[in-house]
Amino acid sequence: MRMTVGKDDLVVVTGAGGFIGGWLVRHMLDSGFGKVRAIDLKPREHWFQLSPQAENVIGDLRELAVCTAACKGAAAVYNLAADMGGMGFIEAHKAECMISVLINTHMLMAAKEAGVGRYFFASSACVYAADKQTSAAVTPLREEDAYPAMPEDGYGWEKLFSERMCRHFREDFGLSTRIGRYHNVYGPHGTYDGGREKAPAAICRKVVEAKLSGRHEIEIWGDGEQTRSFMYIDDCLHGTLRIMASDCAEPINLGSSRLVTINQLVDIVESIAGLKLLRRYDLHAPTGVRGRNSDNTMIQHLLAWQPSIALEDGIEKTYRWIYDRMSAAEGVECRAALAGG
Ligand code: NAD
Repeated sequence: MRMTVGKDDLVVVTGAGGFIGGWLVRHMLDSGFGKVRAIDLKPREHWFQLSPQAENVIGDLRELAVCTAACKGAAAVYNLAADMGGMGFIEAHKAECMISVLINTHMLMAAKEAGVGRYFFASSACVYAADKQTSAAVTPLREEDAYPAMPEDGYGWEKLFSERMCRHFREDFGLSTRIGRYHNVYGPHGTYDGGREKAPAAICRKVVEAKLSGRHEIEIWGDGEQTRSFMYIDDCLHGTLRIMASDCAEPINLGSSRLVTINQLVDIVESIAGLKLLRRYDLHAPTGVRGRNSDNTMIQHLLAWQPSIALEDGIEKTYRWIYDRMSAAEGVECRAALAGG
């Protein structure tokens, strides 16, 4: 049974002040959806993107009452809210990551009570078992590799548990749930500093810092030979909408299948910036698993599609956005110093 959500139906996006949620709200409005309710914990001035045509709500979705209000009248819910970040954040904030279980539990309960037609949960490749990711030349992860379970401590366990809850709400209560397992999503309008940033944005930021300061060196976490795949935001949006509209109720990988080392990612950013940097390796920094890639057999089979935007193209857009933000901020600082002096 395919889901049809009409353009007049109410669509709810949680985590809308964040990176992916902000893009999703904008995409839904641009595609003609007239009623989009966007919810986030953060004050509006901290949302990465704020679409004035959406109903923009500030609320803490750990609270059941807030979830109940969020789901009222909704035909479709995209639940993207989570207390999360890159490896630096999730390794140091395991309990905070696990408290997102309150968001996911209360959103499911509220969606069930409200009779929501379809419910999407943003899961993560961090659900995959650690022993399948010990080598940089990793075999791409198939959906079944999440079991027997030994996910990323804290964040990954919460995601895996919440996936199971989606499944049981579907089986026991008839709530039509869909689950995408995102693999490293990147693009403009996301976190690039402050401690929650992920590798692509962090590397772009460090290269911009080197360019603006003239200090041509970069610190890399680990030995740089750990591997990942990276998916550009446009692929993430298209995949999310396709999974939501599909018949596939099982968790499904949503990620690029192009494996690169962190050193190769740095090569790409350097070539966009037109720089060559001295690399310093911090072998004590958090790096997560040694290797991780997405096996896209299932998504290709079920949806006849997979992410395809070239890493070089996506990183170029991301780098330019971060460069513009940082050089504008530097200009403001400079003008303030001149005015003060
Ligand atoms: P993000 O941190 O930019 O956005 C998440 C948003 O959720 C934030 O704006 C945050 O304020 C909000 N939030 C947190 N707690 C909340 C609460 N109690 N009530 C309401 N809002 C709350 O992250 P993102 O990159 O946009 O990720 C979106 C989703 O996708 C998350 O569930 C994340 O776990 C998942 N995911 C992302 C990636 C990735 O590479 N970006 C990879 C795997 C999974």
